[in-house]
Order: sequence, then structure tokens, then C-alpha cells
Amino acid sequence: MVARVIPVDPFDLVIFGATGDLALRKILPALFKRFCRGGFPSGARIIGAARSELEEGAFQEIVAKRLREDLGEQSVDPSNLKRFLSFLSYVALDGYGDLGWAQLTGLLSISAKDRVRVFYFSVGPKLFGPLAERLHQHGLPHGETRIVVEKPFGHDLSSAKELNRTLAGHFDEGQIYRIDHYLGKETVQNLMAVRFGNMLFEPLWNSQYVDHIQITVAESLGVAGREEYYDRSGAMRDMMQNHLMQLLCLIAMEPPAKFDPDAVRDEKLKVIRALDPVEPYHLVRGQYVAPANSPLDDQDYRNTVQNPRSTTESYVAFKAHISNWRWAGTPFYLRTGKRLKARSSVINVLFKDAPHSIFGEAAGRHANHLKIRLQPNEGITLSVTIKEPGPGGMRLIDVPLDMSFAEALGPEASDPPDAYERLIMDVVRGNQTLFMRGDEVEAAWAWTDPIIAGWEARGDVPKPYESGTAGPGDADVLMRRDRREWRGINP
Ligand code: NAP
Repeated sequence: MVARVIPVDPFDLVIFGATGDLALRKILPALFKRFCRGGFPSGARIIGAARSELEEGAFQEIVAKRLREDLGEQSVDPSNLKRFLSFLSYVALDGYGDLGWAQLTGLLSISAKDRVRVFYFSVGPKLFGPLAERLHQHGLPHGETRIVVEKPFGHDLSSAKELNRTLAGHFDEGQIYRIDHYLGKETVQNLMAVRFGNMLFEPLWNSQYVDHIQITVAESLGVAGREEYYDRSGAMRDMMQNHLMQLLCLIAMEPPAKFDPDAVRDEKLKVIRALDPVEPYHLVRGQYVAPANSPLDDQDYRNTVQNPRSTTESYVAFKAHISNWRWAGTPFYLRTGKRLKARSSVINVLFKDAPHSIFGEAAGRHANHLKIRLQPNEGITLSVTIKEPGPGGMRLIDVPLDMSFAEALGPEASDPPDAYERLIMDVVRGNQTLFMRGDEVEAAWAWTDPIIAGWEARGDVPKPYESGTAGPGDADVLMRRDRREWRGINP
């Protein structure tokens, strides 16, 4: 089955920060892939903007070089590339000054008045306010205007509120797209399809049948390249407050009345608001260290960030409870960390044991388990208990019913649209379902802030864990206290 490309109307997309890492590594490759899939309407325009003064055609050359390097020479068809580059133009522009604004205004004035106009703020958050102000000064926003803003959306509740106030001073909430690329993943949307499109799971999706849920986002890479930012943020702010909280919301939310942006976001917000504060003894912080007898290099957090006393966590795990009828009594265990043994993002829903085993003690304990893999190899596996084939009486084993998208849907499904590809097209279409609303972001910070404040007040020092392992031993203790264990972190 070939992934269907749903056409969009012609649009103008202005990328502020077009020469930066995010634009060159994620946004422009995603747009190129979309173009190659035939998802670009003729007449669409991508206008890069940054302060650097570039010669005519130099921006296109930079983009072409990065696409060839990152996607591989063989994956970049020269004629596709040439046509894609013809959609691109560049304006040297300063978000704080006057440079470039008249030129940008001139470029946009050529388009029809009702054409979708997207301004992607791929710049640091300090520039959001000045950019928004200048856009208005030059009369650039119109009815079909959307702005896209990147994480980090604030450093805490008060800075998030401040950012929201700044943007709200210039744009309606319906025009603001706060991107969290985890929400653009195929499996994340499939999670909603599996839950709300089938009768099979929803009746069991509650504390009566679900023993517990584990959400793991493990990364094998460290923080090299982002040292300064990361050492100010840590895993709680960088990953937990946004990506993992969003996954938790989608797993735990009530069925929305319809698949509509505000209906979905209202339900997600209710989950965050129903989260109990986390007890300190249900929290584990870790920091990676180089394995014994290895050089410190970038396998050692403090060495990488060049801060020998850093108490920033590169790992965090905790047990959370959602105080509502559906989930009272079912714990949610969340963990995320850097330099772990594999790159793996997985949600595990572990169902309770059957109430009574007719097969006796010898058959062992068996329980169904739904595994939702976000990366790598996106897919869903349901394990069911069957009889082990062969003689020797009734021995039971658990086998997977595997819904690997690649196997079920054919080879094209092994290359689903990249999260950025999907999300940018959703912006063009004006669909906010997979974007965070301002109140969601604030609620997530309101829940996260006291945890971080508690660490700071107690002078908490993260537990060391060796690079390449599953994280600090205390995270296993957290589980063992509840007679449970983490599922393995596998590539
Ligand atoms: P970056 O590599 O430092 O790029 C910043 C871009 O902004 C450059 O193109 C820079 O070009 C431009 N810029 C800086 N000051 C400007 C000004 N006054 N006016 C106009 N343009 C200006 O940063 P990045 O890594 O791409 O990150 C961009 C945003 O995305 C940040 O908020 C970051 O937190 C967020 N983010 C990044 C990633 C990632 O993987 N990189 C992931 C998630 C979120 P000039 O210097 O030529 O002006």
C-alpha cells in the first residue's frame, strides 16, 4: 500500500532561522521528502530568512549540500532536487532590526491575498516577540496566517506564561502551532486509531484490567553539540515535560467526542490536571558516567558539558498516578535518558493476570501485553498466551501478534512520512490536532515545576549510571518495590 499524499493548496512558508541546525537538518529535508512524494502544489514557495548575507543562489547550494550529505547521494534524485530548489528563495533579515523586512514584504505581496502564509520561528525563543512585532509592523499577517514555534516552550511555568502572553499579543491561539515532533509520529496517531477505532481495547483500557503502563524514551546519544542548553535544562525539562507528558496524555485520555483539535486537546489537558504530585521516593535522577577503564570523552556527562560539578540530570524516571475514575490504582512509570544502551521509544501497556489459572501453578503467570513502538521500527505488538506446541501437557507461552507497519502495509509503510513532514503539512492545512495548546503547556509546567523545585531545595545530586546501560540501579529499585520490572531497552 502506497502512502497517500493528500494535496494542499499553494502556500508561502517563511522559515526564520533557515541557516540554522533545525532548519537544515529537519525542516528542509522534511519539505524535500514531501516534494518527492508529490505533495507540493505548484506555486508553493519556501522563503528562508536569517541574518547571514548570502550571494544569489548560495542558500540553495547550502540546502542541496546538506540534503545530499544527510539523506545520502543515492536518495537525492538530481532532477527532483533541482525542481525542489526552484521553490526556494532567501532573504537576509534581522529579527531585531530593519534589515530585510522590506524585501520580505515585497516577496509576499506577489501572492494572492488569501494564500496560506506560514511563519516558522526556527530561532531561539527570545526572538519570538521581536519577530511577531515586526511581522505586524509590516502588515504581513492576514486571515490565513499561521506561526510555528519550537520547543523549548519556556523553562518553567512563568517563562512559558510570558511566551504565551507575547504570542497572544500578536496572534490568536488558533494561529499558533507549538510543535512537538513526537506527536507527528505515525504510531502516535495510530495509538488513537487503535484505542478509539476498535471495540477490542477500549473496554479493557482502565485500572480494572491494566496492571500498569510504562513509557520509555531511551536515547543512545549523549548531549554533545547541545552542551550549554542541556546543562541548563536536563532530562525533566528537555524530554519529560513535553514529549513523555504528551505520550502519557494520549495513552490515558478519555475518548474525545470527535477527532477535532480542541476536543482532543481538552481531553489531554484533563489528564495533566488529574496527575498527582510525584512523591520524592518515586523519582530517580541519573547522570551518565564513562564506564570503568574507559576514557572520559563524550561518554561522561560532566566531561562533555565541561562542568565538573554539574547536577543536571541526563536521566529521569518516576511513578505517576492519575486521579480519575479510569486510572485510580494503575501506576504509570515513565523514564527517559541519554547514553542508554539503545535508542528506543516504547509504550508498554501491561494487562493484569487472568483472575484464576485453570492450568495450575506449573503453567506460570501470563498476562497480555501491548507494546507500542515509536522508534525504531514503528509498530504495535500484542502478546497473547497460547499453548506451547508439542507433547508434554499444557505448557503456556506468550507469543506476539505483530502489527509491524512494514509487514502489514507493504514496503512503503517502512518509510512513513517523517514527523516534521506531516506536521508542517498539518500547519498548511490549518489542523492543530497534533500541536500543543498554550494551556496544555502551562499545565505541564505547573506539574513539573514543583518536582524540579524539590530537587533544588534538597540539593539533589543525580545518581551516576554507566554509559551504554539501562540507567541507574535506583530505577530498578523503584520497580522492584512494586514487584514489577522495566521492560528491556532494545534497539
Ligand atoms: P541555530 O543552529 O543556532 O540557528 C539559529 C538560526 O537563527 C540561524 O539561522 C541564525 O542565522 C538565525 N538567527 C539568529 N539570530 C537572528 C536574528 N536576530 N534574526 C534573524 N535570524 C537570526 O539554532 P537551531 O538549533 O536551529 O534551533 C532553532 C530553534 O529550534 C531553537 O529555539 C531551538 O531550541 C529549537 N530546537 C532545535 C532543535 C534542533 O535539533 N536543532 C530541536 C528542537 C528545537 P544567522 O546567525 O545567520 O542570523
